[in-house]
Amino acid sequence: MNSKLEQRIEEYKHVDGLQMPKEKRDLWWEIRQMVKDLPKALQMKVYREAHPAKYIEGWHRQRDKNKLLKVEVLTHYGDDSLACVWCGEDRVACLSIDHIEGRGNRQRKGSLRSSSSFYSWLKKQGYPSGYQTLCMNCQFVKRFENKEEGQYAAKPIDFSK
Ligand SMILES: [Zn+2]
Repeated sequence: MNSKLEQRIEEYKHVDGLQMPKEKRDLWWEIRQMVKDLPKALQMKVYREAHPAKYIEGWHRQRDKNKLLKVEVLTHYGDDSLACVWCGEDRVACLSIDHIEGRGNRQRKGSLRSSSSFYSWLKKQGYPSGYQTLCMNCQFVKRFENKEEGQYAAKPIDFSK
């Protein structure tokens, strides 16, 4: 390993926080660029070097927590079932929260941009109405039928009815 790479890895390890602040993500990106043409085994070594067990553990914990929160929020907005309220799709990876009136993206400004902070915001607000659990397919269909793209939002369709 060259010394510039080692130095970057050291810097990377010392940026605090498991939530990956931009500074840390940028550093990791730079490290990735430096190692991307190296043999796979060496890339793995760099990964392990840069991520001591405690970080990896921490990420897993955070991921589990976010997953539980997601399940809880999606179940609430899926009328007490972890499924799309329209078609019944129940593969969690396909599901997300849809703003019934089609303003989801506009509400998700600032700190609510990431989905996990959006989920925790919904929970903290005591599950406000106006949201529903939809699968991606139904969201695309809804967007298509509503001509919701961009500024041309038309009348909302409430699939939960
Ligand atoms: Zn669906």
